[in-house]
Amino acid sequence: MSNNIIVAIDGYSSCGKSTLAKALAKKLHFIYVDSGAMYRAVALYFLRNNVDLNNHEQIAEALEKIHLNFHSRDYQTHITLNDEEVSDEIRLMPVSETVSAVSAIREVRKEMVKQQQRMGKSKNIVMDGRDIGTAVFPDAPLKIFMTADPKVRAERRYKEMLPKNPDITLEEVFENIAHRDYQDTTRTESPLVRAEDAIILDNTNLTPEQQLDFALEKVHDLGNY
Ligand code: C5P
Repeated sequence: MSNNIIVAIDGYSSCGKSTLAKALAKKLHFIYVDSGAMYRAVALYFLRNNVDLNNHEQIAEALEKIHLNFHSRDYQTHITLNDEEVSDEIRLMPVSETVSAVSAIREVRKEMVKQQQRMGKSKNIVMDGRDIGTAVFPDAPLKIFMTADPKVRAERRYKEMLPKNPDITLEEVFENIAHRDYQDTTRTESPLVRAEDAIILDNTNLTPEQQLDFALEKVHDLGNY
């Protein structure tokens, strides 16, 4: 039996999951895996190749042609789609607007979960997403479920996106977050829901340092860390 440690961080869109996950991984010398980037890269491939989201044959064919790879540089997510670096493109609006529909497809989830579980087989990792504590690693010793006021989330994400998307508006960002939350919580396949044993972290009024301290305390409570 492997005795590696997995920290599962789930929660709503844009509530700082990746900020916390990266900081935690850095502090603990764990590997950070951004599972959302994987769904985004699949959505990008589907967009570029006009994959019909209702055509299961096309979806299966496309999934066979998709090869994703993570390479980490200073805990920043770098993801390649068939050897092309797509880390920036997957953050743009066209992908953000379709990713939740793509991630609701059963075959897509099955393939991503399989790859994610493989990554967590032998290494200590922090993985963030929507179903990490419920479907990917239901036995993870530490699960954190993050939430924050939707307006605060939209303002944070807007500031973050503005340099690379100068035409974006706060309203657009707010709508996208609300829409993704709705799609992610109401889908049939592993909807976003708090695992019963997940600790809730509402960071509306917390700084990144405060939320890191909160999580580190929970890690230390596991012992050996
Ligand atoms: O984490 P991020 O916001 O980049 O994720 C993009 C989208 O990917 C989410 O809105 C959700 O639809 C999907 N996702 C998912 N399961 C995960 C991670 C992300 O369905 N574990």
